[in-house]
Amino acid sequence: MGRQFFVGGNFKMNGTIKSIKDIVENLNKADLDPNTEVVIAPPALYLLLVREHLPKGIEVAAQNVFDRPNGAFTGEISVEQLKDSGITWTILGHSERRVILQEDDQFVASKTKAAIDGGLGVILCCGESLEQREAGKTIEVVTRQLKAVADKVKDWSKIVIAYEPIWAIGTGKVATTEQAQEVHAAIRAWLKAEVSSEAAEKTRILYGGSVTEKNCGDLAKQPDIDGFLVGGASLKPAFVDIINARR
Ligand code: PEP
Repeated sequence: MGRQFFVGGNFKMNGTIKSIKDIVENLNKADLDPNTEVVIAPPALYLLLVREHLPKGIEVAAQNVFDRPNGAFTGEISVEQLKDSGITWTILGHSERRVILQEDDQFVASKTKAAIDGGLGVILCCGESLEQREAGKTIEVVTRQLKAVADKVKDWSKIVIAYEPIWAIGTGKVATTEQAQEVHAAIRAWLKAEVSSEAAEKTRILYGGSVTEKNCGDLAKQPDIDGFLVGGASLKPAFVDIINARR
């Protein structure tokens, strides 16, 4: 059985009640490919608004979650609180959090474990900087980030990996189909060697980094690209074309 195409929309710290309602309205009216699994990640403040207005077939993701169940952790949100609010996914390990908020591999892994143990799906981001790519360290960096998770999490059935080269995020500089496919294939080989053959066969590996309605078609044809994590373009009406990239 093939892997279901998956498209996530990461709104990051963008939007207002009005603009987010407009995006949701646009999705509600659109003719979306029923074969694509769609997950929308608005800022935390708007999770409930989005959950309330989207059809049940589209799931909602937080952009982060904490690894403790409750307590004195000002500003954080728990797995249980997300589930209580009908939020079934979370993004974790996004490079903006790794770089700006200095989240290390161990912290990302610990949060991934908490999310998986609590029953959330996880869009687990990994990716190299331009400097690391130019030093020939792409696969080493990506597999180091994934290994930290594999050391703590054995069940990968609710993990979707998003390969997001940092130099391609929000820059308009998309990886070539060859660059993306090469890393996706290496991640799949790593899953087979380090997790299981089943995880290698079933885990969706998304590409993220300046995906638009114009470049998504060719990327979507690559054998190891199972969808996209989309930032900037998920705020635009053309997000629908990315959801429908395999049609
Ligand atoms: C992202 O933030 O996950 C992302 C891929 O952003 P963009 O599509 O804007 O490059």
